[in-house]
Amino acid sequence: MGHAKQPSGPDLAAGVDVAELAENMPLLGHVGDDAVMLVRKGATIHAVGATCTHYSGPLAEGLVVGETVRCPWHHACFDLRSGEALGAPALEPIACYEVNRRGNRVSVGAKLSRVPVPKPPESPGKIVIVGAGAAGAAAAEKLRRLGYAGSITLIGHEAPGPVDRPNLSKDFLAGNAPMEWITLRDDAFYQEHHVELVRDEVTELDTQGKSVVLKGGRRLPYDRLLLATGSEPSRLPIEGASLPHVKTLRSLADSQAIIDAAARTQRAVVIGSSFIGLEVAASLRARNLEVDVVSIDRVPLERVMGAQVGKFVQQLHEAKGVRFHLAARLKAIHADAVELEGGKRLEAGVVVLGVGVKPRIDLAKRAGLTVDNGVVVDARLRTSAPEVWAAGDIAFYPEARLGSRIRVEHWQAAERQGQAAARDMLGLGGPFNDVPFFWSQHYDVTLSYIGHASGEAETQVLGNLDKQDATVVYRVGGKVAAVLTVGRDHQSLEIEAALERQDAAAVDSLLQAATSAAA
Ligand code: FAD
Repeated sequence: MGHAKQPSGPDLAAGVDVAELAENMPLLGHVGDDAVMLVRKGATIHAVGATCTHYSGPLAEGLVVGETVRCPWHHACFDLRSGEALGAPALEPIACYEVNRRGNRVSVGAKLSRVPVPKPPESPGKIVIVGAGAAGAAAAEKLRRLGYAGSITLIGHEAPGPVDRPNLSKDFLAGNAPMEWITLRDDAFYQEHHVELVRDEVTELDTQGKSVVLKGGRRLPYDRLLLATGSEPSRLPIEGASLPHVKTLRSLADSQAIIDAAARTQRAVVIGSSFIGLEVAASLRARNLEVDVVSIDRVPLERVMGAQVGKFVQQLHEAKGVRFHLAARLKAIHADAVELEGGKRLEAGVVVLGVGVKPRIDLAKRAGLTVDNGVVVDARLRTSAPEVWAAGDIAFYPEARLGSRIRVEHWQAAERQGQAAARDMLGLGGPFNDVPFFWSQHYDVTLSYIGHASGEAETQVLGNLDKQDATVVYRVGGKVAAVLTVGRDHQSLEIEAALERQDAAAVDSLLQAATSAAA
């Protein structure tokens, strides 16, 4: 989580020489206390807020692509002309400022007010969103930002409402993030935007009668529906897995339960060396617990990121005192310990299962929607039922670059799919083409991953992981399927932009540059 910094760079109210503005290269300055940047696009100069509205990332260190700027931290995307947050994880726009030009001097004036958006081409009467998580919440907001004035009902059975889920295993669990960072939006926000937030479970979806039924009995009709029911953590079929000190992590309540349990013990065992398992290990170390990680894998994260990255991450954790028990098999969980096959006992007052998630697709299945490895959707995220879209962890969608369907379990991708479904529901859609992106944080090291490489990708490390300056390329069938970077945020954005426009030559030349930089 970032914090706003003291303004730096020139006072843009006083002005700068136009010669200082290189095409597409943001120039960071300030207006009063606000960080503002100038971006020249040909003869046009934009002045916009330079702080990402997601985690306060430094937009002037980001990448300008067409009329957009992308944040180097989590790839949020803003329109330079309107300030609009075009792509999550930012949901709020950045400010736009008046630009004054006198001779060679460019100065920044007052903040501009927002230009009202035109009415969308289609305006269904009632839109219902099932699931108030990343995709659902982002969709609800996007509908309003696109000028939709009809009824929106956002239904979720998770308290308190939409939360910043990635934080639950990171700063919040470590004790470094206050509660107000966690709630994505509060009730007042939804009231102001006329979104009805219903805290209940949808138990039935009737695609013929176009309605959903809530556990409380209420039936809600819809004209268009978004299914965004996310995932639930897997449990293990072993003795002791249901004991009260054995936790999983998905919701704010789960994170709080782990914090409460951690306060009563000195020792934790994390089962599974997944991203979430390892982030939990890091956060519990920050709380000074002894942490053992038990995993069936030989190397943490090997299946997703390859052995070299896995070993690198393992070492980060070991340096902080986490103990790994790899290629290990669990025998049982007891009230005070985890027992491995072979008899080893690891004392634990709290046990956290980080053994993967499964998509919540029961509702879709019962409604007769086509499901496979998730809810099957087309390129516009439409399911097999008329007027029903699906987004987020459950959506099994066609990925244009790979030529196959994928399902991804990433925060930013879920939000973007929610936003894409919102656009499509209003007749503003097109194929969902965003390059999947996710990040994972281990102490002060962030891994940024773009693309999607499943299974047997060939891995090549350019640079030096130990120096936290590396690019890792994953090739499938000789083609670049994914790229991970450590300490190379700008390059991650550049490669993402090249993948987005399916420019294989540009991807190769960026990787070539990464190879030379590494040499
Ligand atoms: P969710 O966000 O899970 O939302 C689904 C919502 O639907 C839930 O609130 C659920 O209660 C509700 N729901 C389900 N069924 C019903 C029903 N029948 N009726 C009513 N409501 C229902 N991704 C990253 O890219 N980077 C990270 O660093 C990262 N960290 C993570 C840390 C943690 C602890 C977790 C759990 C996940 C993390 N992820 C991360 C993954 C990311 O959070 C998910 O991919 C994302 O939240 C998926 O969004 P979604 O909208 O599909 O589902």
